[in-house]
Amino acid sequence: MLYRIIASAALVATATAAVVTNYTSIVDPTNITIPSIPQTTAYDWQTACVAYEFPVPFDASEWPGDWLVATTNGMNETAEYQALYNSIDWTNVPQIPVRTALAQGELDTTGYDTVNDPDCWWSATGCVTPKVPGVLKDISACAEPDTWGLTYDDGPNCSHNAFYDFLQQQNLKASMFYIGSNVMNWPLGAQRGVRDGHHISVHTWSHPMMTSLNNQDALAELYYATKMIKYVTGLTPLYWRPPLGDVDDRIRWIATQLNLTAIIWNLDTDDWAAGTSVTVQQVQQNYQNFITMGTNGTFANTGNIVLSHELNNMTMGFAENYIPQIKQAYKNVVDVATCMNITNPYVENTVTFPVFASTSSGSNSSSTSGTSGTKSSGAAASSNNANAALIIVALFACFCYA
Ligand SMILES: [Zn+2]
Repeated sequence: MLYRIIASAALVATATAAVVTNYTSIVDPTNITIPSIPQTTAYDWQTACVAYEFPVPFDASEWPGDWLVATTNGMNETAEYQALYNSIDWTNVPQIPVRTALAQGELDTTGYDTVNDPDCWWSATGCVTPKVPGVLKDISACAEPDTWGLTYDDGPNCSHNAFYDFLQQQNLKASMFYIGSNVMNWPLGAQRGVRDGHHISVHTWSHPMMTSLNNQDALAELYYATKMIKYVTGLTPLYWRPPLGDVDDRIRWIATQLNLTAIIWNLDTDDWAAGTSVTVQQVQQNYQNFITMGTNGTFANTGNIVLSHELNNMTMGFAENYIPQIKQAYKNVVDVATCMNITNPYVENTVTFPVFASTSSGSNSSSTSGTSGTKSSGAAASSNNANAALIIVALFACFCYA
């Protein structure tokens, strides 16, 4: 382990070194106009997707393959990617092995030391606090008490306008974790997310298990997804979510080079798996349990972050069914930027988020200003053992998908 200690010491000084990126856009994120075409105005989840013109000049040859690992389509050989890659001092990357992917949602953890968890490998242990110094620490729970951290993964999509309409009607903002390939396919969906004021974050280019990728592929997955979001919306996210939660200190180190902080969760609805690996009733029970936690003191001292998806009609339907109860049970239902007092979740300062204490919460209270939210010192706010146990049970219920 000596090599790791040496490498870790070196990281302290180098983790924030500037790297060569080429994020460009002609889109003004403060002035997005979405054309009125049936697809963008649909209030019917069943409305078929209709191909539309890319809202800005677009050349597919300049981007990775659609839903393929982000070094495809020659991206790993472009001058741009080479400049990026070579601007990073890879001598400092943690010497952690590339993992073996098994079936979807599964990784081969054979032989991994889950007791000491030297790599802070979330998929194996749920670890969110890096062992490597200088690496950005995951956010896994809203710091604010009585707060539901609202997050939706796997967008954007052409047929989700009704869901975005619903969130708008509910006066809710969510953290949206966008897949780069989806943004390429449905750029107006991403523009809508920005226009509606949601907190847009990166969910990789092609949704791989990141620890199963080599350094080049992992860097490209983060870089090109971030670049696509910037190209289409004018905003460069500073936060990301690893697909399936799969992150270790090697992947965190690579994300840190791009100034990307991981947002994980501490409650998992399992919504995406309803009807397959879990029953619909189990997902409903998960939602009910999490709603109960809003009134039984579980989150009296800190909040949660809940994993859910805008993936399909089923997952969006769960959200629509339970959001009224969630708003009854929790004082605040907000995006992660807001609940963590991250006023600048993008590189650009043109779009900012309010400090928590000044926001109007997503609760059903008629109050429109000055919520009871109070600033706390951090995500590690104390909770009693019983509540912590509940959270741990929920966390380990499923590592399967994000
Ligand atoms: Zn996902």
